[in-house]
Amino acid sequence: MTSKTWTVLDLLQWTTAHFKERGVASARLDAECLLAYALGCDRLKLYVDYEKPVEEAERARFRELVKARGRERMPVAYLTGRREFWSLPLAVSPAVLVPRPETECLVEAALPLLGAGTRVLEIGTGSGAIVIALATERPDALFWATDRSSDALSVAQKNAQALVPDVEIRWLEGDLFAPLAGERFDLVVSNPPYVAETERGSLPPELAHEPSGALFGGGEDGADCLRRLVAEAPAHLRPGGRLLLELDPRQLPAISDAAIAAGFDPGATIRDAAGTERALLIGPPDDPERATQPAPLESS
Ligand code: SAM
Ligand code: GLN
Repeated sequence: MTSKTWTVLDLLQWTTAHFKERGVASARLDAECLLAYALGCDRLKLYVDYEKPVEEAERARFRELVKARGRERMPVAYLTGRREFWSLPLAVSPAVLVPRPETECLVEAALPLLGAGTRVLEIGTGSGAIVIALATERPDALFWATDRSSDALSVAQKNAQALVPDVEIRWLEGDLFAPLAGERFDLVVSNPPYVAETERGSLPPELAHEPSGALFGGGEDGADCLRRLVAEAPAHLRPGGRLLLELDPRQLPAISDAAIAAGFDPGATIRDAAGTERALLIGPPDDPERATQPAPLESS
């Protein structure tokens, strides 16, 4: 009996159906990414090679990836070791959160605030996504980045060596501002852990593979880490300095209140590309930029 010849198209169709059955949201895209990875080509090449038979050795490699994605719900980025962020090919491992597209709105919001010599600190850098994206765009600013996970810092440092070898980023390990005693910055940016522990059971199964220290922020609403950042920031900002935080939109009122309590303005919300209120830019109460804006009309 001759065994069936599997073409690229056969494998894509079978795997897409299999992923759908398993509840994988982006079934076709994931099938393409994993097959391209197994064959050592890019996704577009698959379309040219639809009718090409795939060798048994390559199929065996692909089968393992499909098993891990479908059965264990391993994120594609951990299987391929790569994830694109701000159009940069970042290396990722299970030691770091898979960078999310919504986090790009923090980069967008930060860029206009950065110039030559601006002191920028990222807290909880993970793969380095945010600080590296900023460094590619504003190489003349000064960068610091921290994480409490040394494994995450190794991933970030490798990414920086590959993507921004000429920009110096000072990497520090420790809890929030602890490694930065006496240092002040013009901008502190962070995508801290902010998921509530109570949501653990209802999260997509992929998140179980990500470091829980990157996800769960503590407190009933998951916002403890955010609140600590806001409370500790004033001692580490230069005059006019700002704090830019990613959060869950449900945490906005609590974090605005915390900002006011720490002597800041309530913050300006920033929406991600999907239109979700995803970040808060907190500044001094007497922000000169805001003072130049027309005052709201008074109702008489
Ligand atoms: N910045 C990356 C991104 O946006 O993709 C990673 C963000 S991930 C949500 C949060 C990161 O903060 C993790 O790498 C975690 O290890 C780190 N982290 C959590 N708590 C921390 C703390 N108290 N001090 C320093 N880093 C912390
Ligand atoms: N946005 C992440 C999620 O998928 C949470 C990341 C974080 O806690 N910073 O829920």
